[in-house]
Amino acid sequence: MNARCRCQALRHTEGMVASNDELACQELVELVTDYLEGRLTPRERRRFEAHLAQCRGCRAYLEQMRRTIGALGTLTEESIEPAAKERLLGVFRDWKRHSV
Ligand SMILES: [Zn+2]
Repeated sequence: MNARCRCQALRHTEGMVASNDELACQELVELVTDYLEGRLTPRERRRFEAHLAQCRGCRAYLEQMRRTIGALGTLTEESIEPAAKERLLGVFRDWKRHSV
């Protein structure tokens, strides 16, 4: 395995396949509400789903968000588990810096 998903906070155990168009876990986390609300562009959506297909942690995250939205009827910043989000943001701070 020469490329690992950077979603360490979610303890990925499956082999990850990276590509030039790879969506970072941090990016997925930030897009998940738009995805669930159907606001992604076709390209974003394709990358999002491609990442999901190879990233068990993010699939679990998406499911968690779906359940949260189903329970609350909407999604707010507060509905994201603070500890989990903090860990993700810490892990991907580097990614964020490079993306700007
Ligand atoms: Zn991921």
